[in-house]
Amino acid sequence: MNRIQLMSEDLANKIAAGEVVERCMNVVKELVENAIDAQSSEIKIELVDSGVKEIKITDNGTGMSREDARLAFSRHATSKLKKLDDLFHIQTLGFRGEALPSIAAVSLTTLQTSDGSEGTLIEIDGGKMIREEASDLRKGTCITVRNLFYNTPVRLKYLKNLYSELSLISDYVNKMALSYPHVSFTLKNNGKLLLRTDGSDNLQKVIHAIYGLDIVKKMVPISGENDDYVISGYIGYPELMKGTRNAITILVNGRVIRNNEVNRILVDCYHTYMPPDKFPIVVLQIEVDPILIDVNIHPTKMDVKFSKMDTLKELITDVVSNTLKKLTLIPDGSRQIALDGATIKTETHYTTPFEQEFDSEKKEQEFADFEKMTLSLEVKESDISYGAKPDTTIDEIETWENRIKEMYPVGLVHGTYIVAENEDGMFLIDQHAANERINYEYYLKEMTKENPHKMDLLVPISMEFASNEYVILKEHWQKLEDLGFDVEEFGFQTIMIRSIPLWLRNTNQQAAIRQIIDIIIDREDFQKERFFHRIAATVACKASIKANDFITMEDMRVLLTRLRKCQNPFTCPHGRPTIITFSNYELERLFKRAM
Ligand code: ZN
Ligand code: ZN
Repeated sequence: MNRIQLMSEDLANKIAAGEVVERCMNVVKELVENAIDAQSSEIKIELVDSGVKEIKITDNGTGMSREDARLAFSRHATSKLKKLDDLFHIQTLGFRGEALPSIAAVSLTTLQTSDGSEGTLIEIDGGKMIREEASDLRKGTCITVRNLFYNTPVRLKYLKNLYSELSLISDYVNKMALSYPHVSFTLKNNGKLLLRTDGSDNLQKVIHAIYGLDIVKKMVPISGENDDYVISGYIGYPELMKGTRNAITILVNGRVIRNNEVNRILVDCYHTYMPPDKFPIVVLQIEVDPILIDVNIHPTKMDVKFSKMDTLKELITDVVSNTLKKLTLIPDGSRQIALDGATIKTETHYTTPFEQEFDSEKKEQEFADFEKMTLSLEVKESDISYGAKPDTTIDEIETWENRIKEMYPVGLVHGTYIVAENEDGMFLIDQHAANERINYEYYLKEMTKENPHKMDLLVPISMEFASNEYVILKEHWQKLEDLGFDVEEFGFQTIMIRSIPLWLRNTNQQAAIRQIIDIIIDREDFQKERFFHRIAATVACKASIKANDFITMEDMRVLLTRLRKCQNPFTCPHGRPTIITFSNYELERLFKRAM
C-alpha cells in the first residue's frame, strides 16, 4: 500500500516547511508580504538574535477575523494563490498561502490580530494549536515566531551564522523599503535600530535611511523616457564606489528585481569613471507595460526579462551618461577623507549589520535630525561640490573648459603631484593620471576616425612572434589594418610594419605596437568600443609622464590646460581620480579660520 498515506500530518508539515522556510529571511519575507497585502502603512520587524530566537512583525493593516485567523494556519487555505504571470497586474504579494502553516510547524508562533470588530489570539506550537482566545481590539496583526526550527535540529544547524542571517534580512528589508516608499518600515535586532523609513513616499528619504546622509547628498536624480519605458531614480557620484554590485537596486513597476543585463549597462555607464572592479550606487526605477516583460520568481529573488532590451539599454545609457557628463566630479580632499571613513562605516553598516548596531543610537539621532530638516533634501547646488551645476545644458558642456576654472600651477610635490590654485581653492593633480586622460581621449578620437591618418616609417619595423601568437595574429590581420597599420608577412613568423597610425608618432613606437599586438593576441574582447578603449588606455599609460618625473612649470601649465579640455577630466582611463580639491572654505575650516 501507499506508505506516504501513513505519514503523520505533523511530519508532512515539517517537510513542507523545509521547502518554503529555509532561513530566517524567508519567514520575514512571508510575513512582511502578508503585511503589505493587508494594506499596512507601518510595518515593524523586531528580531532577537537575527531572528533565530524571535521574529516579531507588527503591522497596522486590515487584520483578520477570528475565522480567517484560524484558516490562516490551515494548510489548505491557499486562497491567495495566483498565476505567476499575474504578479505585475495584481497587488497581492503573498501568492504562496502555504507559508504561515509551514512557519507554524517549525516554531512557536503567536498570532494576534484584529479586524476592528473582534480581536483574536492564537498560539501554535510545532503545528499544534495550544491557545485561542479573544484579544486586543487594535486593528492590525502582530505575529511572533519564536525558536524557529527547534523541532528540526538539522535545519537549525544551517542557521548558526547569525551574521549572514541578519545581513540577508537587512538586505531584503532595504529593498522592500525602496519598493514601498509609502510604507514605513522599522527593522531592529536585539533592540538596536537598523533601519527606519517614514513612509512619506519619498524615495530620496528611503535612500537616506539606508545609506546615510553623506551618500544621499552625492546621489543625483535622473529621469527619462522613450516609447516603451519610463525611467527615474538616483545615481551616485563615482567617488561613492562600492566593492560589490549590492548597491545597484533595480525596480520594475515598483518591485525590486534582478537583471544582470541592466546591472551591466549601469556599470558600463561608469566606465573609466571608476576602477573596473568597483560598482556604483544606483536606484533605478523602470516603468513598463507588463506585456513587455517576462517574470521569473525564485523563493528569494525575482528575475525579469525585457523583450525590448535594446531600447531600454539606449534609454538608460543616454540618461545616466548624460547626467554623469554634467557633473563636476572633483572630490573634495578633506571631505573625501570623511567620506572614505563613511564608506567604510557604511560597508560595515550595511553588509555587517552587527557592527552597525553599535551605531544605532547615532542613527536614531540622525533620523530625528533628518526629520527636523523639514526635508528640502533635493540635492542642493552647494552639496554638489565645486563647479558646474547639474543642470548645465549639453551645449555648455561642449566647451568643456567651463566645467573647471583655469588652475594655475604653484609647484610639484615629489615629482608626482601638481599643486595648483585658483580663486576657488587649491588643487592637487596627479600628473601621470592627468596626462594619461589627455592622451587617452586623443588616441580614442583618432582611432575612431573613418580613415585614420597614417605615417610611413623611415625604417620599417620587423617583429617576430611565437608560432601560437602568429596564428592568432594572422586570424586578426584585418584589425591591424583597420587601425591604420601597413603590415606584411616577412619570412618565418615575422611581420614587417611599413606605416603606423599617425597618433602613435609621439610614443615609443616599437613598444606601443607590441602592446597593441599583445591586446589583439589576447583576444579578450573585440567588441569595438572595449577593444579601442583597451588600446588607447594601454598606450596612453606608457606614453604619459610618470611619477617622479620633475616636469617644468610650463609643462604643468600645458597639462592643466589640456586636462580642462577633456570630456571627462576627472578620472584617468582606469577610473582613478586626476584632481582633488581643497576649497577655500575647507582650507579655512581645516586651519580653524572658519568654523
Ligand atoms: Zn597609467
Ligand atoms: Zn590610469
